[in-house]
Amino acid sequence: MGLVALSDCIRGALSYEAIRYPPILIYYANVIGIPVFMKFEVITIFPDIFSGFLSESLISKAIAKRLISVRTHYLRKWTTDRHRTVDGKAYGGGPGLVMKVEPILKAVNALRNTKPKSLKSKIRVILFSPRGKQMDQVMVKRWAKYNQLVFICGRYEGVDERVADYIADEVVSVGPYVLNGGEVAAMAAIEAVARLVPGFMHDAGSQTKEDHPQYTKPEVFTLGKKKLRVPKILLSGDHAKIKDWRDKHRR
Ligand code: SAM
Repeated sequence: MGLVALSDCIRGALSYEAIRYPPILIYYANVIGIPVFMKFEVITIFPDIFSGFLSESLISKAIAKRLISVRTHYLRKWTTDRHRTVDGKAYGGGPGLVMKVEPILKAVNALRNTKPKSLKSKIRVILFSPRGKQMDQVMVKRWAKYNQLVFICGRYEGVDERVADYIADEVVSVGPYVLNGGEVAAMAAIEAVARLVPGFMHDAGSQTKEDHPQYTKPEVFTLGKKKLRVPKILLSGDHAKIKDWRDKHRR
């Protein structure tokens, strides 16, 4: 059995939401050299945008523990001309420049071929676009079942449509607004998927959406003349009633 297949079995045996992953399991998975659970590959012309994101908080810890890897790939590496051109004027006219299809195809092909053929990797290629399907938790859970996610970050006036039609498996928007580039979208996607990787969260229960209101100390917070109190039910210690209250206020 290949190492990737073995890691798949372990992932399959553990339901993402129900079980706290024993650190010992994660430890042995790393010791015996099981590849990281999830590889993120980001194709971008601005790889430095990711440096702070990758070196802080839970993402950096997950990288250190080899639960995930995040590699940024500088798109200009896959150009052949002297100016390392990744964009061109739009056919039919219009303002701004459009990202070319060739370097993106070369980058994606190179990433698809990074594994020896014997190790089957489940790979998904995602293009970010404001015109894509809106990212949600269902989509994120589906992505978490792959071993390798390739994110293509557009810039300028967008990406030659042939990338969406023939190279990417999915075209995804992070929301109904327009960003300058796909890098922020990629970071949002990395965080959302990484939270579902076994061992990423200390408390496996936190992987699910805690989408009800939450409070912490102080019990009474004074704002001007107002006293802002934590709802009494949450202080009652009655777990059944607390659960009902949370279910009722779930968004
Ligand atoms: N009119 C262009 C289009 O429809 O693609 C807008 C291009 S936008 C200025 C440049 C890049 O930012 C896009 O190619 C895409 O990769 C990224 N982007 C912008 N808004 C996004 C969103 N809401 N979700 C995902 N990616 C987005």
